[in-house]
Parts: sequence; C-alpha cells; structure tokens
Amino acid sequence: MSKQVLVIHGGAGTIRTQDMTAEMESAYLKGLEEALLAGYSLLEKGSSAVDAVLAATKSLEDNILFNAGRGSVFAADGAQEMDASIMDGSTLKAGAVSAVRNIRNPVELAYMIMAKSQHVMLNGKGAAEFASLNNIQTESDEYFYSQFRYEQWKQMQESGEMALDHNVVLRGNKKFGTVGAVALDKFGNIAAATSTGGMTNKQFGRVGDSPIIGAGTYANNKTCAISCTGHGEPFIRAVTAYDVSCLMEYKGLSLQEAMDMVVYEKLPKIEGEGGMIGVDALGNAAMVFNSEGMYRGVRNEEKMETAIYK
Ligand code: ASP
Repeated sequence: MSKQVLVIHGGAGTIRTQDMTAEMESAYLKGLEEALLAGYSLLEKGSSAVDAVLAATKSLEDNILFNAGRGSVFAADGAQEMDASIMDGSTLKAGAVSAVRNIRNPVELAYMIMAKSQHVMLNGKGAAEFASLNNIQTESDEYFYSQFRYEQWKQMQESGEMALDHNVVLRGNKKFGTVGAVALDKFGNIAAATSTGGMTNKQFGRVGDSPIIGAGTYANNKTCAISCTGHGEPFIRAVTAYDVSCLMEYKGLSLQEAMDMVVYEKLPKIEGEGGMIGVDALGNAAMVFNSEGMYRGVRNEEKMETAIYK
C-alpha cells in the first residue's frame, strides 16, 4: 500500500505581501483547503489518483478567485477561453482541451476525452460537440464573469499589452493564474491535472502550456506527476514537465533535485517565470517556484499545509 498524497497549486505569481489583505489571504487559503479536501477525501476512500486530481482541480475551477473555469481571465476579444489537461501515470493516457469557451469544468472535458475518445486534445467546434454528446455542463458568459478580471482586461486593452495574469497589477494587487493538482493513490498510481484561463488580453486562439502534455502537465508512474504554472510560452519551449521526468529517468535525479534544476536553473535562462508541483510513486512531494509566490497546498496522512509566499 502506498502512502497517498495530494498536492495542488492555484498559480505562481509575484504577489507582494503588502498588497494582500488578511481577508483576501484567508479566502485564498480557504479555497486551497477546500480543493485539498475534495481530492484527498477521495484518496482516503480508495479512489484513484486520477479521480483525486480531477476533483481537486474542479474545486479550484469553481472558485471565482482562481484563474480557471469560473473567474477566468478575458482574451483580446473579450471572451474567456480556457485550456486544461489531465494525465494518468499508470496508463500514460491523457486528455486535453484548448481555447474552449463556456465549459463549466474544462478539466472534466479533458478527462472525458482521455476516457472516451481516441484522441488526446480537442479544440473549437469538435470540443464543443464532444462536450455536448457527453453531457458536459456548459454555462453562460455571466457565470464566468468576474468584475476584477474585467477591469484587469480593460486596463490591458487600454495599454495594448498582453499580460501573464500573475504579473498584472491592479489596484495594488498582483494576481496569479492557473490551477493544478498531482496525486499518488494507495495503489501506487500517480496522476496530474492542470486548468487555466491563460493570460489576460491574450490573442484569442492562443494556447498556453497548460493543455500541452509534457509542457504544463505530465504523469508517469516510473518517474513523476507534474503540474506547472507560469509564463506558458517558455514552459512550452522547455518541454518543462517532461524534462523533470527525463532528469529522473535518465540521470537518476530525485523528484526534488529534478524540479529544482528545471525551475531554478533551466527556466530562468529563457525567462521562464513560474513554478510547479510534483509527486512520485514513492510518496515524495515537492512544490518549487522561481516567482515571488505560488498558491499551493499539500495533504497526506500526517499533515495538511497551505501557503502562498516563500
Ligand atoms: N501557464 C499559464 C499559461 O501560460 C498561465 C499561468 O500559469 O499563470 O496559460
């Protein structure tokens, strides 16, 4: 029997402590705790790592504070387009969606693609049709709307910029993006999931690292399960999540050593700001970031911890 563990993130960011009110901080930490509970209670009942990362990620998608599902950022055309993926380390099966609109839980659609289709990634009309055939819940634009994201988008539109959500400063608050989870279940299987609204004022149709297997998400029982957050473009170019797995498989590095090397040494060379969470099949867990903070949490038999800053 393996020692089950669940690790989650709610995005990496340069959030300054002085911009965070006690109220906001406790709301974010509560959101992280709820997600840990949603996923870990399933692990305790003997559910799979896939089920646990799905439940934890859905919980964060449903929380308007996080940039995924409800509360996602706005693209350049004013719509909310979301990316998500999930991977099962025991079968190496994966599912992903990119630039989908109006899907309540993009990670659930990614899961359905993994479970019920011959494909790994769907987008556009095909993703929408697959969602409706599989009774995936959709919501109106109003459901995804949040005043803060709208103001953030307006600010970006005026300046003509595109911004990583966690680099945007609005009313003194720096914000963050993306959610994800990795888990080890009692059967020794690991899994990873990631979901995001991406970057404020991004070109519509832009796809970040989050739905790309090997970049934002990867899981393999032989090595590790990884979910990334940060500036998507460098993360894609660095094949970030798979690089951690390769360092473990081919160089014999531990999970922590491999994540440290990628996040502190390799990513900064290509301006890859952000971080990642990981687990391995032995029950080791790690959370590493080169940004000022990363919303994160871990739960196993001994402890439940949530944190934002270094
Ligand atoms: N990686 C995400 C993207 O580029 C953003 C983030 O993690 O904040 O879409």
